[in-house]
Amino acid sequence: MLEDCPENCDQSCYRCLRSFRNRFEHSLLDRHVGASLLRYLIHGTEPTLNEDRLERSADTLCEDLSSRGSNAQFTRGTKIEIEGVGTITAPILAQRGDQQWIFGVHDPLSPDVAPTDELRRAKETGSVPVLLIDDMVISRNFPFATGQVLQALA
Ligand SMILES: [Zn+2]
Repeated sequence: MLEDCPENCDQSCYRCLRSFRNRFEHSLLDRHVGASLLRYLIHGTEPTLNEDRLERSADTLCEDLSSRGSNAQFTRGTKIEIEGVGTITAPILAQRGDQQWIFGVHDPLSPDVAPTDELRRAKETGSVPVLLIDDMVISRNFPFATGQVLQALA
């Protein structure tokens, strides 16, 4: 039910997780995160959110960052050469002068774990700082997520 809600809702609806009894928690219910947790508990698979959702979160975050008039440039899905790793796709690339930062989105259940192997390797080498923002923070407390990025650039 969590994976295949009949309404195909974004987070939760009355067809999947919502009921009158849990009405005070509706804003907290997220079927994708729930499914990710159950898959981990039942099958031991690493918690992940689907790529579309992570992409959408990165879109939202990047659009907001670009509209802030910060002195850094933000671009989505930019190819970047990382020493010792090769060419990777930066979910969000921030550039200011000759400084660069990569921002990605992580599953709320696996803090600070990059969603792809290439990003994980880039993060390990550390030649360009890779910072990961929690998908749930982006969807629930968006200004805080933007603030985390801007603080990293300060
Ligand atoms: Zn639903």
